[in-house]
Parts: sequence; C-alpha cells; structure tokens
Amino acid sequence: MKERQTKEILSYDRKHLWHPYTSMSDPLRVFHAVRAEGVRIELADGRQLIDGMSSWWSAVHGYNHPKLNEAAEKQLQRMAHVMFGGLTHTPAVELARRLVRIAPEGLDKIFYCDSGSVAVEVAVKMALQYMHAQGTPAKNTLATIRSGYHGDTWHAMSVCDPVTGMHSIFTGRLPLQHFAPRPEIRFGDEWDERCFAPMGELIEREHDRLAAVILEPVVQGAGGMWFYHPEYLRRLRETCSRYDVLLIADEIATGFGRTGRMFASEWAGITPDILCVGKALTGGYMSFAAVLATEKVAEVISSGSPPEFMHGPTFMGNPLACSIACASLDLLSENSPLPRIGEIEGILRRELAPAAALPQVADVRTLGAIGVIELHRSVDMATLQQRFVDEGVWVRPFGRLVYAMPPYIIKDQELETLARAMVRVVAETE
Ligand SMILES: *Cc1c(COP(=O)(O)O)cnc(C)c1O
Repeated sequence: MKERQTKEILSYDRKHLWHPYTSMSDPLRVFHAVRAEGVRIELADGRQLIDGMSSWWSAVHGYNHPKLNEAAEKQLQRMAHVMFGGLTHTPAVELARRLVRIAPEGLDKIFYCDSGSVAVEVAVKMALQYMHAQGTPAKNTLATIRSGYHGDTWHAMSVCDPVTGMHSIFTGRLPLQHFAPRPEIRFGDEWDERCFAPMGELIEREHDRLAAVILEPVVQGAGGMWFYHPEYLRRLRETCSRYDVLLIADEIATGFGRTGRMFASEWAGITPDILCVGKALTGGYMSFAAVLATEKVAEVISSGSPPEFMHGPTFMGNPLACSIACASLDLLSENSPLPRIGEIEGILRRELAPAAALPQVADVRTLGAIGVIELHRSVDMATLQQRFVDEGVWVRPFGRLVYAMPPYIIKDQELETLARAMVRVVAETE
C-alpha cells in the first residue's frame, strides 16, 4: 500500500512539478521524503539518510527541532501573519534586537523580505536609491567577483558568475555589471597584494558609474565553493570607502556560524554598508531574509526625493518566520555553535584528506562546517545522488563539486560516515 502511494506521488510529481534546475520532460530522479528529525531525512521506503546539505545551508539545528517547533506553534495560536504596512508586532521587533546584537557593528537598520534572492534585489535597490538621493545617479552599476552566486532573480542573476552561475542563456538580456577575477589567494595562505589589484583597478576606473560592489565574504557558495583570503575584504572595504562605492556583503549562505564566525565578514573585521541574510535565519523552517544597513545608508536614502525606500513585499516581517528566527538565534547565542564548528572542521579535514590522493580529484578544502572535494571533471549527478542514498547519506553534488555543509548538531560518528561515503563515492567515479 505504502509502496503504491509512493509510486503514485513520484509519478504525479514527475508529470506536474518542476524541481530546481531540471528539465520538466526529462527530470533528474527525486526521492520521496516523509519525515526529518535531527540530522536524518527519512525516505518513504524507511531508509534514513544522514543529511550533509542542511537543506542548502539552512537547517543548521537539524530538523523537527523542539524549540523551533514550539516557537512556530505558539505564534500560530496568536497570528500567522498580518501586513507590515501600518502594523508591527513583537516577533519583528525581537528579531531586530537579536540581529542588531550579533551583526557586525554599525548595521542597525533592518529591512525584512521573503527570500535570499529578494534580499539581494532589495540591497541593490538600496544602493541605487542611495546614489540617487545623494545626487550621483550615474553611479548605477554593480561590480563583483567571478564564481559568485547571489540568487535567481533578475539583478541577483546579473552578478552571478557568467559561466558557473547557471544563467548564461540570459547574457545580453541582463544589466551589464563589472566582473573582477575571483580572489585566487586561499583562506589560510599568505596574502599577496597582487590578488586585490584587478578589483582595485576596476573600482578606480569605474567608480563614477559604480553604486556598489557585491560579493560573498570569504566563502563563495553555489558559484564554486571557494574560500579566499579575508585580507581581500579589508582592501575592498578601504577602496570602496575611498571612492564612495557601497559594499554589499551577501551572507545568505555564510551567516550564522557556517564559516566558524557568526558572520564571514568578521574574518576581516569589516562592516559592510549593506548585509544580506537568509537561508539559516529561520533555522531552515521558512523562506525569510533580512537586509541590514548602516545608519548612513538609511539616512542618505531618507534625505532623497522621494525619501521613502520603495519596497514592501506582501509577507514582509511575517510573524511566524520572525518567531522561528528568534528561537533559532536564541539557540545560537545560548549555546554558541562556534566551538562545535571548529570540531566539525577538524573531522571533515581529517576524513576528506584521503580524497586528495585520488587521480580524479583536483582539490580538497575545508572551512568551518563546509567540506569540498573538487574533481577534474563534472560528475554525473544522477548516478552520484543514487550512490549517496545507497550509502545512507544525503549529498547533492553539482558540476565538479562534491561537498557537504551538515547541520551543526551532527555527531562525530555521523560526520565520519558522511565524509567517508563522500570519499568512497568519489573514488568510484571515472
Ligand atoms: C542561496 C543564496 C541566495 C539566494 O537565496 P534564495 O533564498 O534561494 O533566493 C543568494 N545569495 C547566496 C550567497 C546564496 O547562497
């Protein structure tokens, strides 16, 4: 009976549902998940998979967490949602308090929105409106580094890597932005000034037309899983300030501890002008994001004509999402995850190290609770995904990258199982 149900679910799904980055007529296989608890995802056939993805950086406390469930249930009894136009509520204010407390110093003006991509759109709009308000409207383009990923909406797409960014067919339809090479000096290697030179020259040359530089601090996620030297950010901060260009830090993947600091910007000790958070903000429970700005950004925008910031999504400040986010941030501050993330990093480094000796493997790298095996050639995602499920782990590779960023609650032994499965499956590839 159960088996028949699953068959029916999967066949209806295949016929009617689009999944991320796949074809509708010949999609990649999907698995039927029925439950998730702690670090495990349960499939309809009863198999339990150790989760290596945190549902794309978001489920940092694991699934079905009693504290997050309680926050959702309590808020549900009061109100699931009210509009944010003309109304406010305790969850929105309490979340703001928490974000201001943990964010890099000086970021204390908060705009709530629906998802990471929308947060990037809001940040870009803030930068353009800032330049308009201060009387330099010609400063209306963006600069970024290659290998970035900032989401799938229009301006977010325009600053994704033109090659690995998954949006190449829209080239020519998107606003033209300026790209510097990705910072080649790795995290942990010795800094070399030449690494920043191309970005420095770009800003010097284009600053009359630049509103902002946007990038992912220290860890580039979906554009290539690359970890670069924090000194790059310090140089960028200085240069942006010198040329009146805003600095937007996209911390949607890196925020809330993932890299071993609460925010990756902290590795460089910088405060960006605008910072985007999303993904782990609600501990992976709901789509929700926030854009944090400095007082100066808010003041300049508000001194313009019009003085209003022209944005206001329907579900802005959703109370359910704010309540869960508060509970998630409380878990992070009551019980700092950072020591555990250091331990996760150590285990990932040790357990993934054997992969470096494999002929298929180009590089193995680890930072915080992120472990990456980069291959020489693109992997066959369908085959590897199936193999990982057979191994009892949930790992979803893309391109030449097999990587994991598990929930922080993962136990040593589970992490070893996960990492060893990664090495084993990679070793089997052609
Ligand atoms: C995932 C991600 C986004 C987009 O967030 P969505 O919630 O998927 O729209 C933007 N920037 C970075 C760095 C991301 O990792």
